This record gives sequence, C-alpha cells and structure tokens, in this order.
Amino acid sequence: MLKLPPFAILRPRNRDELKSAMTGSEDEFKILAGGTDLINNLKKRLYFTTSLISLKRVEELNYIIYDQNSDQLKIGALAHLTELTESPAIMNSAPAIAAAVKTIAAPPIRNRATIGGNLCLDTRCYYYNQSKSWRQLAPTCYKCGGGVCNAAPGAKKCQAVFSADLPPLLIALEAEITITGSAGSRTILLADFYTGSGGRPNILQKDEYLSEITLNQARKRTSLYRKFRLRKALDFPLAGVALSFDKNSSGKFINPKVVINAVASGPLSVPEAAEKLNGKEFSDQAAIQTAAAAAMAAARPIANVGSKPFYRKKMIGLLLKKMAAELVAGQEA
Ligand SMILES: Cc1cc2nc3c(=O)[nH]c(=O)nc-3n(C[C@H](O)[C@H](O)[C@H](O)COP(=O)(O)OP(=O)(O)OC[C@H]3O[C@@H](n4cnc5c(N)ncnc54)[C@H](O)[C@@H]3O)c2cc1C
Ligand code: SF4
Repeated sequence: MLKLPPFAILRPRNRDELKSAMTGSEDEFKILAGGTDLINNLKKRLYFTTSLISLKRVEELNYIIYDQNSDQLKIGALAHLTELTESPAIMNSAPAIAAAVKTIAAPPIRNRATIGGNLCLDTRCYYYNQSKSWRQLAPTCYKCGGGVCNAAPGAKKCQAVFSADLPPLLIALEAEITITGSAGSRTILLADFYTGSGGRPNILQKDEYLSEITLNQARKRTSLYRKFRLRKALDFPLAGVALSFDKNSSGKFINPKVVINAVASGPLSVPEAAEKLNGKEFSDQAAIQTAAAAAMAAARPIANVGSKPFYRKKMIGLLLKKMAAELVAGQEA
C-alpha cells in the first residue's frame, strides 16, 4: 500500500483566509478540493508538495445558481459532482452537464469530487501515473523534470493525455471561468484556460485558484457529450466528443461546436468538423461522415493510455456519428 508523504495542511474558512493562506505560503503548496485525484498523485510522489490548502471549509465557493431572466448559470468551484446531477438549476438549464457528470468515475468518488478539481485535473500517462519505484525503472521523463518521453521516444515535450470529462462539454457551451488570485479576479473563456501541454495543462499561476464557472446563455444551446472507455464505471475516457448547437433548430445543426477529448494534452475544438455540420440535417449522412473525418484528423493520440492510438482516433469519428444517430432518434440527453 502506498503511504502519503508528510505535509502541512491549511484549512481556511472563507475566501479572505484562503487568499492569506495562498499569498503567505512560501512552501510548494497544492490546492486540495475533493482530493480524489490529488491524494492518489501525492501517494505516488508525483508532486514535491510540502503543504496543502484545503477548500473544504470555504463554503462560499459551493453553489449552483440559475437566473431564468438572464439565462445565466453560475457554478462555484467547490460544487460536488453529485450535486451537479441533482441540481434543479442544472436540469432546467443545461441537463447535458448532469448526464456528462454521471459518466465520471463512480458515485462514491462523485460525492467527494468537485467541478473545480475536474477542470484543473492533471494530465495522465501510463508511464507517469505509477508509484515512484515503478517510475524509477525508466529514464526520468519531461513531466517528472527529465529530458525524455518514455511513451513517445523522440518527442520534444510531454504528451500526457487530458482526461477530464467536463471541460470539453463546457467549452462546447462557451463557458467562462473566473480565476482568483492575489491581484484580484479575472474572467476568461474556459477554452483559453488550457495550454495543450502535457507538462503544464492550464495557465493557473501559483497564487491563483479557479473560483467560478459561468454559462451566459445556458438554455440557448443543445449539447451532448459521449465518451469511450473500457468499463462503464470508474474509467477515464480513452476518447470523448462534445457537440453543441442552437436549440430549436428544426432538426438541423445551427452554429455547431465540436470539441474532442482524451486524444491530446488538452481538450481540442475542431472548427473544421463543426463547419461540415453547420446548417445540415441531423440525418445528413454525407455531412456527418465528413465531419467525423475532420474530427478524427484533429485527434493526436499516442500510446500512453489503455487503448491503441488508431482505435481511439477511430472512436472519435464513431462517437460523433453515434450522437447524430441519437439526435435523429430524438434521444439527446
Ligand atoms: C477511480 C477514479 C476514476 C476516475 N474517473 C474519472 C473520469 O471518468 N472522468 C474524469 O473526468 N475524472 C475522473 N477521475 C478523476 C477525479 O475524480 C475527477 O476529475 C474529480 O472531478 C476531481 O475533483 P477533486 O475535487 O477530487 O479534485 P482534487 O483531486 O482535489 O484536485 C485535482 C487537481 O485540481 C487542483 N484543484 C482542485 N480544485 C481547484 C481549484 N478550485 N482551483 C485550482 N486548482 C484546483 C488540485 O490542486 C489538483 O491539482 C477519477 C478518479 C478516480 C480515483
Ligand atoms: S507523455 Fe512522455 S513525458 Fe509525458 S508523462 Fe508520459 S512518458 Fe512522461
């Protein structure tokens, strides 16, 4: 059994105390939300962290609010995944979020896990998510501070896979996020949060945390997320596709967005695929075939998670076709 390394833990009770804890800490610290990923990673000695700052008591960050007049949905970073599946605010505005959450891990994990932790999830790799003694059998790779990639020999940088399920769907819904730090808060598109780099997946600075997720026109769009995994519970995606388009579009894809997942080091928007669908009927097989080909072409899987790259690429196309077939059959959730 792997043991946790020693660390100090700070438990701020509100956002002011959180700010002081973050700015006052000279140690190498990590934000702890639900801990469902972080604690495993600490046991594997993936981080040189000597202290954790727990968000658990910062209740101000746990809310889900839908304003019908402005059609705005706001979710605090500490909202738990289970809460997202049970929230009337989500069901009334963007039910695809609840459906996507239900594909993440399993109920006991979703009870602890938070949306903030999901959006800030570290990238994954078969050669990285291992114990320290296992990793010592291979040369130290880029993500661990070395100069090689064990998964793709010859690669110039880390290509660990981005495997969080909510970001592609939220990007397809044009979600914004608020990042809070010692210098104040800033709001950006979630799409701009990700670097596409396996080594450092997002742009958060040391003194910053993710505080809020916002959908500005929550009910305006229909959206879906489908993932490929080996088992129907627990497993991270090996490929995923999110699709959104304007609601009430009479059986057509109007202003579609396609975002693919788990086939690169960040969620990837594929405007070439969306273009092929724009204005086309859900049942237009030629358009769906060319969109699926464009989505597959954008996928860049390598052999570092539990399925072959060519198969995961193929699944990207198949998931998009499956979604179109479900829309024709009228089962979108
Ligand atoms: C068996 C198993 C199966 C899983 N399956 C899936 C899956 O299918 N799909 C999926 O998407 N995930 C999966 N996960 C990963 C994880 O459970 C979820 O992604 C979860 O949402 C992470 O949230 P958390 O609150 O537990 O994050 P934590 O583990 O607490 O944190 C994760 C990372 O985010 C950072 N962080 C957390 N909150 C913030 C914040 N507000 N601001 C800045 N940084 C922050 C932490 O410092 C850490 O680096 C699985 C995990 C396990 C153990
Ligand atoms: S992709 Fe390469 S560099 Fe990145 S974690 Fe895996 S082996 Fe290491």
